[in-house]
Amino acid sequence: MLVKTILNSIERFKSFVFDTVHWETVKGVHSIIVSIRARANSRPECSQCGQKAPVYDTQRARSYEYVPLWGYKVFFRYAPRRVSCPVHGVRVERVPWAEGKEQMTTTYRTFLAGWAKRLSWLETAQVFRTSWDTVYRAVCFAVEYGLAHRDVNGVTGIGIDEIQVFVGHKYLTLVYQIDHHARRLLWCGPERSAKTLLRFFRKWGDERSAELKFISSDMWAPYLTVVHKKASQAIHILDRFHIMKKFGEAIDKIRRAEVKELKAKGQETVLEKTRWILLKNKENLTDKQTVRLKTLLDMNLKVAKAYLLRQDFLQFWEFTDPECAGRFLDEWVTRTLKTNLEPMKDVARMLRRHRELILNWFVPEPKISNGCVEGFNLKAKLTLRKAFGFRNINHIQVALYHTLGNLPTPPLTHRFCG
Ligand SMILES: [Zn+2]
Repeated sequence: MLVKTILNSIERFKSFVFDTVHWETVKGVHSIIVSIRARANSRPECSQCGQKAPVYDTQRARSYEYVPLWGYKVFFRYAPRRVSCPVHGVRVERVPWAEGKEQMTTTYRTFLAGWAKRLSWLETAQVFRTSWDTVYRAVCFAVEYGLAHRDVNGVTGIGIDEIQVFVGHKYLTLVYQIDHHARRLLWCGPERSAKTLLRFFRKWGDERSAELKFISSDMWAPYLTVVHKKASQAIHILDRFHIMKKFGEAIDKIRRAEVKELKAKGQETVLEKTRWILLKNKENLTDKQTVRLKTLLDMNLKVAKAYLLRQDFLQFWEFTDPECAGRFLDEWVTRTLKTNLEPMKDVARMLRRHRELILNWFVPEPKISNGCVEGFNLKAKLTLRKAFGFRNINHIQVALYHTLGNLPTPPLTHRFCG
C-alpha cells in the first residue's frame, strides 16, 4: 500500500517494519492506523540500558500518535515486548519512535513544536485538531531536548533583562547571549531579585562566568551587586535601551501631571493622545505628528522641556571618545538639575550615580550591539502576547526558551514542512 511506501521513505526503523494500514475510529475520530511489528529474529532492547536481551513476554498493543495525514489522525500501533535484562530485570523494550510511556511519537512532538514556534500554541492545537495541552507537552519535550543538547561554550557577552508577566508585579529575569556571532536566550527564572541572578550564575558555573568579557544590564540594584560579585572581570555596561526607558517613564510622569494641571485650567485637549509623539524619536514621527509636536513645543509646556532634554541627550550615544562623552554627560546632568522637572532630575541623578558603568558603553571592544537586548525584549513581549492559555510561569519559561533560545531540535529524517 502507498502509505507504507511513503512511511518507509520518511521513517526507517532498523529492527521494525510497517505491517498493515487500516481505518479505525479512535475516540470518535476517523483515523489511519499503521501497525508495526518487530522483524523476525530481532532481539528487543532494554528501555533502561539499551542492551539487547531475551523476550520475556509481549504486552497489549499501544497507540502512538504520528503526524496527521490529509487532516486525518495517524497512529502507529505496536505491541511492545518485555525483555528480561540481566541488569535491570523485566523491562518494557525500547522503541525508536517514542520515549517511555509517551503516547506521541517523537516525530509528531517535534513536528508540533516546530509549528508552535510559528503559531500560538492555541492556533497550533486548532490547526492540527489536538489539545492545547498536547502542544504544550510537545514544546516541553523540544525545549528539554534543546537545553540538553545545546552548546554553551564560548559565551563572552551576556545581557540581563527583565519582563513583567501576568498582571501585578510578577517578573521574569532573562539572560541572553549577546555575542556578535550568537544571540539567544540562555536562561530565565522567576522574580528579579539578587537570588534570581545568583541562580543563573550558579547554573552557569564559575569557569564559564570567568570567561565573560562583557555584561549588559539595566541599573536595577540587585543585578548590579550580583554582576559585580560573580563576574567582576567583565566590563559591565548599562545599556542604552534601559537608560532611554527611564527617560520615557520620566516624560510620561510629567505629561500626566501636566494633563491634570491643564484640566484644572480647562485646557485639557492639547496633551491628549500625545504620549507616543513624546516618546518616539523625532525621526520616526509622521508629518502630522511633527506638526503637533511643534505646537506642543511652542506652548512652552513642562513636558516639552523634558522632551527637549531627552532629545538632546540622544547625542550622548553618538560619541566615540569616552572622555568627551563623560563631559557631555556631566554638562547635561548639571543643566537638568537646574530645571524644575523633578522626574527628569531623578534621571539626571541616576545617570550621575552610574556614570562609570554608563561610560563603559564607549569601551571600544567589545562593543555590544545597540538593538540587541531591546530586540529580545520586544520578542519576549510578543511571545507573552501570543500566550493564550499560559496559566503559570512555567508555561511562559518554556515558551521563551522555545522561541528565543535558538535551541537545537531533535534530528528528523524527513522535513514535513519548509
Ligand atoms: Zn537493562
